[in-house]
Amino acid sequence: MTEQLPVFPYHPDPVATGAIVRSDAECSCCDRARGYVYVGPVYAAENLRNRLCPWCIADGSAAGRFEAQFTDVVDDVSMDRLFAITQRTPGFSGWQQEHWLIHCEDGAAFLGSIGAAELAAYPDASASLRQERASWPKSQAEQYLNTLTRDGQPTAYLFQCRACGTHLAYSDAT
Ligand SMILES: [Zn+2]
Ligand SMILES: [Zn+2]
Repeated sequence: MTEQLPVFPYHPDPVATGAIVRSDAECSCCDRARGYVYVGPVYAAENLRNRLCPWCIADGSAAGRFEAQFTDVVDDVSMDRLFAITQRTPGFSGWQQEHWLIHCEDGAAFLGSIGAAELAAYPDASASLRQERASWPKSQAEQYLNTLTRDGQPTAYLFQCRACGTHLAYSDAT
């Protein structure tokens, strides 16, 4: 029987976002094949990609043992929140260096990659993407938003503030 996946407050559904997949692979930290493996980025001296289970990420044992983190760039949060996000939360893969969005002085929950079609449901996230392109002529910014695609590029990364519920997003491409 497969164990219940651990709870990740900053990445509530890592199976839906594709960061954690079903796998028979053995975890390099607990040496057990537990039915799931993390396939997102790992910043560590050793190559641990596709070799860590979600439980060893959630309890901090993988980060502690391998000095690993799963997201590199998190700005402007307290140290305990920073460690929770970088060391005990599955990261996500972007086209550029990923960074975690912050709202209400805490990391927001990562909901996944989205494109223009999905973005329509989140006017607050659209607003944050318009803000990101504020230096562009308005028509060009709108055109850019319409080219966003969930599986290709440019793509947008959707988050939701854990405190106030606001959706926010940023976008990137190669
Ligand atoms: Zn493990
Ligand atoms: Zn907020």
